This record gives sequence, structure tokens and C-alpha cells, in this order.
Amino acid sequence: MTTVQELPADDGVNAAASYVARRIVTLAGPPLDGGCIVVQGGKIAAVGPRRIATGRVVDLGDALIAPGFVNAHTHLEFSGLTKPLGTAGMNFASWLREVIAFRREGPFDPQPAVVAGLQESLAAGVTTVGEIASTVPRQLFERPPRGPNVTAFMELIGLSESRAVAKLASLDEFLAAGDAAGVRRGISPHAPYTVRPSLVESAVARSTEQGVPLAFHLAESPEELELLRDGTGPLVDLLREIGAWDATAIPPKSRPLDYLKTLSGAPRTLLIHGNYFADDEIDFLAAQADRMTTVYCPRTHAYFGHARHPLEKLLAAGAAVAVGTDGRCTNPDLDLRAELRCLHRTFPNLSSERIVRLGTFDGAWALGVERDVGTLEVGKQADFVVVAEVPDESDPYAALLDERAVLLRTVVAGQSRIEFIR
Ligand SMILES: [Zn+2]
Repeated sequence: MTTVQELPADDGVNAAASYVARRIVTLAGPPLDGGCIVVQGGKIAAVGPRRIATGRVVDLGDALIAPGFVNAHTHLEFSGLTKPLGTAGMNFASWLREVIAFRREGPFDPQPAVVAGLQESLAAGVTTVGEIASTVPRQLFERPPRGPNVTAFMELIGLSESRAVAKLASLDEFLAAGDAAGVRRGISPHAPYTVRPSLVESAVARSTEQGVPLAFHLAESPEELELLRDGTGPLVDLLREIGAWDATAIPPKSRPLDYLKTLSGAPRTLLIHGNYFADDEIDFLAAQADRMTTVYCPRTHAYFGHARHPLEKLLAAGAAVAVGTDGRCTNPDLDLRAELRCLHRTFPNLSSERIVRLGTFDGAWALGVERDVGTLEVGKQADFVVVAEVPDESDPYAALLDERAVLLRTVVAGQSRIEFIR
């Protein structure tokens, strides 16, 4: 059995600490054999060969150091679930009914789930998280600062005019409170079937004014496309049932492209899922690759049995892509490495290096924190993972993703937040 130990917060905070290991993947240059990372003040002071080691030296032995993983999309409020809601292969509207029932079962207290989700993320080597905060942004900001870096996107739901106005007022309050240590703010109008287009426009305006990222679930299911195109289908039935449908909110013959055009006004937008982007939408995203990223959630995609994800088309066109676990409401865990392995099984032609980038730097870029995290470079925050080397793997990127490569340590801002004792 593996023991998890939380360490005192001392590594590399004041005095320099040097981590030496058999290999280091920096993603800022070729992998290093027999490398060293020097950490001071929570940041990377040097990366190079073993001989640069200074201060307290932590010899990690036969291990590999790599940038911490970036989970670009999750919903931590569901982290207390032991299995996804509903059953695999169910249609999207039926699954949403399960979510509504789960929230109504009450009393629903997301706080313990959010804390558990942050801990689980660290234990999976995730050092940065894009979290959709539906009801509890406060909990994230009040937690002790020992978790991963978080971008907390306040979720907006409002199909009717009156609800949209109320939501916007609470968004302004949320944004006015400013960032906290390790936690930044973002905005997440939920999805086309729960948010009127005018509320998306207001969210984009706030995102631009305040320079905060925006996340929007889009082109997730055929039911969503039907609702946009015809104003009919299982999602409309569900919204009618719960009294939330507003037939005037969405113009007929709408498409994800209409939303992409609006969202392209924001400085950094994450399009969550994008399972059903059409070719012209992919071209649009490629043209906006300096500000828009599609976040593919491989195991959630598989859970619903969607048509093949347009990942290869997006990448070939030059569009930006990142990876998320989504919440435990559609996924058994928050392990981004497991997510990347699933992605690799689905798209075996992609190189391990490309896949590691999707789960690290590209996620950081999507969230707008690429200057601080995502690679191991001097001046960046010292966020990294240590995994045990696997004996027969010469490609360090493949070794990092290998199921046998046990995670040994997760370091955030130079502090070893979690260590697994072999
Ligand atoms: Zn989601």
C-alpha cells in the first residue's frame, strides 16, 4: 500500500533546494539526463545538469521530474461521488436530470467535496486546476493555501431575462473581491441551453474589462445542436419540465459558430468539450488560436459514447487544445494522467510528447497562466511532479504517462504538497 504524507512547507521557500533526478522533462527544451532543478522563493532559480545543485540537495534517484499537470476543466463540487451519475451511454438530457436530482437531494454541501477534489488533484500530480464554481466560489478562497493553483470560474445560469440580470449582479460582486493566494477568478456562462445570448455578451464584456478568462460548455451533444437549430428536442423538454425554458431567448437556426463569434471578444476563452464542432467552426477556432482553446475531456466524452472527437482536425488546423477531467459526475476520478492515457488510446498517432504538452503547457495557456506555470523554466513557479522511472522506457514523455510510473511527489510553488512513500 502507498502511504501519503503531507510535508511541512519548507522546501525552497527561503533557502535554495536542489532536486536531482535521472531525467527531467522541462518542455522548454530537450529532456535532460541526470538533471537538476534549483528552487528558491517558490520559483525555479535554475535548471541544468547535476553540477548546478546548490543549497539543500534532494536526490530523487531513479526518478523523472516533469511540469505539474494542468486540469483545464473540472467541477469539484462533485468530487464526493464514488461513481459518475447515471449510466454510461445515456443521453445527455437524461444525465442532466440526474444532476438536477443530485443537487435537489440536499442538503447539498459542496464544501467537503471541493476540499476532497483539491486533495485528489494534488495526489494525481495536478498542480493547476480550471474549476467551475457553481454555488461556492467562497469556499475555494477561504481554504488553507495548500492545494493546487486554481482558476475559479463563477458559473452563470440564466435563460430568462430576470435571472440573467440577477446573475450578472452576483458576478460583479465576485469579480470585485479580487484574486487570493493561489486562486484567480474567471467567468463561466454555463452553456447555450442554460444561458441567454445577451448574458454571454455581458460575460464577454466583463472578461475583457477585467482581463479574466472565460469558460463555456459548447457543442457538447447532438441534443444541444438540435435545441439551437430548431428549438426542439430532449433538452427543451427537460427545460420546460423544470420551468426554465424561454422560447424567445435563442434565435432560431443558431449554431455554436454564433457563440464562438461572440466569445472571440474575450481575451482568453475555454470552449469546454467541442465534441460536435463543424469544419467551419474548427477553421474559426484556428484563426482565433491566440485567444480560444477547446478543452477535450476524453473519459467524459467516452462515457456518453459521443461521435469521435474532432481533436485531430483541431490540431491539424492549428487550433489550441487542452485537456480536462471534467467532474466526477461523468468520470471516476480527477487523475489527469489517466485522462491523457485515455486520449492516447483514442488517438494513438499523437506522440507522447504532444500529449504531455496538452496536459501541461497547453492547459496553462488556455487558462492564461502560461507565463507562471506549464514548463520548467527559470523564473516560473516551481510546480512539478516526480514519478518513478520505468525500466524499459527510453522516451521520457512516454515514461511520464506510463501506468507503471508511480507518482512520488507533487510540488506546488516550491513546496512538496504531497509525497508518496515507497
Ligand atoms: Zn463541465
